Amino acid sequence: MSATPENVVIVGASATGLTTAQHLRRQGYEGKLTLVGDEEHLPYDRPPLSKQVLAGTWEPERVLLRSEDALAELDVTLVLGQPATGLDLGAKELSLGDGTALGYDALVVATGVTPRDLPGTDLDGVHRLRTLDDALALRAALLAGPKVVVVGAGFLGAEVAAVAREMGLEVTLVDPLPVPMLRQFGPQVGELVGAMHRDHGTVLRCGTEVAGFRSSGGRVTGVELGDGSVLDADVVLVAVGSVPATGWLEGSGLPLGNGVECTDHCRAAPDVYAGGDVASWYNPHFGTRMRLEHRMNATEQAMAIASAIVGDERPFAPIPYFWTDQYDTKLQAYGTFPDGARVQVLDGDPDERAFVAAYLVDDVVVGVLGWNHPRTLREARKLVVDRASLDVAS
Ligand SMILES: Cc1cc2nc3c(=O)[nH]c(=O)nc-3n(C[C@H](O)[C@H](O)[C@H](O)COP(=O)(O)OP(=O)(O)OC[C@H]3O[C@@H](n4cnc5c(N)ncnc54)[C@H](O)[C@@H]3O)c2cc1C
Repeated sequence: MSATPENVVIVGASATGLTTAQHLRRQGYEGKLTLVGDEEHLPYDRPPLSKQVLAGTWEPERVLLRSEDALAELDVTLVLGQPATGLDLGAKELSLGDGTALGYDALVVATGVTPRDLPGTDLDGVHRLRTLDDALALRAALLAGPKVVVVGAGFLGAEVAAVAREMGLEVTLVDPLPVPMLRQFGPQVGELVGAMHRDHGTVLRCGTEVAGFRSSGGRVTGVELGDGSVLDADVVLVAVGSVPATGWLEGSGLPLGNGVECTDHCRAAPDVYAGGDVASWYNPHFGTRMRLEHRMNATEQAMAIASAIVGDERPFAPIPYFWTDQYDTKLQAYGTFPDGARVQVLDGDPDERAFVAAYLVDDVVVGVLGWNHPRTLREARKLVVDRASLDVAS
């Protein structure tokens, strides 16, 4: 372990990047600290974008993670509106979009992910949702009171469908998989998510591919499905997943697979760390490599990285946590939810839409899900921590 560096540069001025900076200062780091971000905005939080900001219940300023004054207190040099475009590991230097170079002793990569695209969607009226500007543009489009098609029924698509429906719009949610949120929660809970959407009047077209888009004068007018049907659409949200924002690191020598590949200490190379959505690391608790797009992970991994930089290194072995809000329902989840896991209800009743369920692989609890049931869920988390064994009868 090298001595504490004197010049830390963090690329990605959002949840992971800012938390790393805050935690470094909290840990007593007094050296130079620079936060580089390609967006113009001060660091802000993303989960409210598909919820309160889209619904209009929060003003955009409320998503800022720290006020300008509080940022000044951190004594961080903010380089905003400026992408990192390359990395020279040998020279310990970044190149920036304006052609300048920035040296570092320790580097933190926290560049997140960018939305995956569908071909032919460069049309007016077709949206993606990752940034504050995306959310404000989508909200303005929804306010026109249109027909909305959401492509992709993962957590982002499902949340936006719920908000649009609550705005009184005609909403259709399309996904090639048979039920919403199948990848996140498997078929049984996915079925319940689908029923919840139908109960609120959202039309589901699951098990159907998008074949193309219809347009007139450069503006989307409809979505063609694989079964030959066409959905009229004034606004389309494409929410078909994301890819790690690692383009700027290509050729740098950093290991890039599904994200920046790190050790269980979040290290991708000597004096280079990666955290948050962009990082793939070996989680010793689960004995597997993971890359999470969860808000809590951004905070926890940032704290682990800051500690490692100041010399307090330990393996990063969190129990993943994430939540989603749809209509009046909060789903919260700890752990992992692998394909084929057995689902066992621990408390409450799925028919009542208030329950906690365990996900088991070889009768060992690897995840717990709470559907409007936060208190029992917190207790159930311990089953994941303890790798508890539950047999079929219990
Ligand atoms: C709409 C939305 C809703 C969400 N809701 C939930 C939720 O309900 N629950 C949950 O657990 N998680 C949710 N998430 C996920 C959560 O927001 C992310 O896990 C979290 O934002 C990850 O933080 P990060 O700092 O790693 O990445 P990001 O927040 O993506 O930040 C990365 C930053 O790096 C910048 N950047 C990228 N490339 C460069 C470059 N080359 N140079 C400089 N800067 C660069 C980006 O512009 C961005 O500002 C949601 C995400 C979105 C988009």
